[in-house]
Amino acid sequence: MQLLDGKKVREERTPLLKKKLAELSFVPCLVIVQVGNREDSTTFIKAKKAFAKKIGVKEIHIELPENIKQEEIISVIKKYNENVDVSGIIIQLPLPIHLDTDRVVDTIDPCKDIDGLTSHNVKRWMNGHEDALMPATTRGIKELLGYYKIDLFGKYVTMVGRSSLVGKPTAFMCLNQNATVTICHSKTLDLEKETKKADILIVAIGQPGFIGKNFVHKDQVVIDVGITRIPEGNLSGDVDFEAVKDEVAMITPVPGGVGQMTVLALFENLVDTCYNRI
Ligand code: NAP
Repeated sequence: MQLLDGKKVREERTPLLKKKLAELSFVPCLVIVQVGNREDSTTFIKAKKAFAKKIGVKEIHIELPENIKQEEIISVIKKYNENVDVSGIIIQLPLPIHLDTDRVVDTIDPCKDIDGLTSHNVKRWMNGHEDALMPATTRGIKELLGYYKIDLFGKYVTMVGRSSLVGKPTAFMCLNQNATVTICHSKTLDLEKETKKADILIVAIGQPGFIGKNFVHKDQVVIDVGITRIPEGNLSGDVDFEAVKDEVAMITPVPGGVGQMTVLALFENLVDTCYNRI
């Protein structure tokens, strides 16, 4: 089994990112909008802020109350859309259910939408435009596969999970790379059958340790997107790593896999938007 080491790839790629930042005539500023205080959101934001600091990107973390009204959050986003010193805006998802996520996200100026979730950017990455801003996790997975020379052309990919944030964009990315893609979800009737037929299995369901060895095969590449804090305090992926690692060809660890690549890709998206402005 070969480990697909996101931490190593990120460490190797970070100097190039810093070099690109240093060549800009301005210091980019990233605005992170958080509504409420979900523990998982706070953890993800902490990782983004730490990486911003490491590479010299300015960040503003806006913390809004859980019960904020739709029009209030929209006016906050509009303010940063108009601020020329701000290069990127992200809204940490999920939002509380009383807010219309699609409407709130669509308020972001597509040029500052470094999560690639506005309608404008979704249409571009769905249609396979090379310069499209794609969601960071998807870009991170694409780069991780590329680093390990795992070609998607003609491969069978099974994507377990169909969220707008991970499952759908990742499935489209694979399709645009000429893979044959099956998308599974909680209503899929025979999940084992669908996962076993894959050359590349990608899992993003938020169910710690759900994918055991009966879902995989020896020649498979397994990409575990899941990150859940389990009661023992550790982070767990959606794949039972210990049970599966010797049953597959390649696998990402959690932590140290896709999560590391997601943060890198987010800031690569930010740098791309800065270069497009010049
Ligand atoms: P989400 O919005 O809750 O979507 C979960 C998806 O998984 C849904 O499509 C759901 O199906 C499906 N699902 C749930 N249980 C299932 C089961 N037993 N069998 C098959 N499908 C099942 O979650 P998300 O935002 O995509 O995130 C998924 C995981 O990835 C979470 O652990 C999250 O923390 C993690 N994540 C990691 C990164 C990273 O950088 N590594 C980034 C983002 C998210 P239905 O549609 O039928 O409900």
